[in-house]
Amino acid sequence: MVVAQMPQEVVPKPSFRNEVERSGGLNVSACFQCEKCTNGCPLYAWMDIPPHRMMRCVQLGLKDEALRSNTIWVCASCETCTARCPNGIDVAHVMDTLRQIAQREGVPASQRSVPIFHKAFLSSIRRHGRVYEAEMATNFFFRNESWASLSKLAGMGLQMFRKGKVKLIPNRVRGLGQIRDIFGRTELKG
Ligand code: SF4
Ligand code: SF4
Repeated sequence: MVVAQMPQEVVPKPSFRNEVERSGGLNVSACFQCEKCTNGCPLYAWMDIPPHRMMRCVQLGLKDEALRSNTIWVCASCETCTARCPNGIDVAHVMDTLRQIAQREGVPASQRSVPIFHKAFLSSIRRHGRVYEAEMATNFFFRNESWASLSKLAGMGLQMFRKGKVKLIPNRVRGLGQIRDIFGRTELKG
């Protein structure tokens, strides 16, 4: 685990904490650093700021450290931390909110492929109402330019296709209009 460097002395700045709490309807101020979130997180060993410390960063207003961390992009949104928090803090939602702020403010993602994957996934949902794996994988590889692993995964894709796990033609859901409506309303809010 590579641990992020933190400033030795910090003057708390409430504006960032307020921004996170307001945008997500969250109560990060209630965190008392018990570490239950970190102890249950399956990915904390790959994070440069463990979840409980990320809550502290938000409380203190360490915006740059939080938004530039790899933690927010390593987090898999599994919600174990949220389920374990004795104060009812939705830690997974805090991570989501930090990702949204980072994207909105153009902070480059430390794990470049993660937002690309999210975009490919959401674009597939928007077009078909559900994931169309073949299109999503192609979209992801072209945007991510990860040519090294392309041949390996193409082989796996072919095997999945032979077993009927990947369809050649996408299936669209019946309520596609409603799904596109949700996308439209969410974008208006953002
Ligand atoms: S939601 Fe993210 S931070 Fe929380 S336990 Fe899962 S991976 Fe860890
Ligand atoms: S489990 Fe809740 S209170 Fe404990 S450190 Fe994590 S966020 Fe803070």
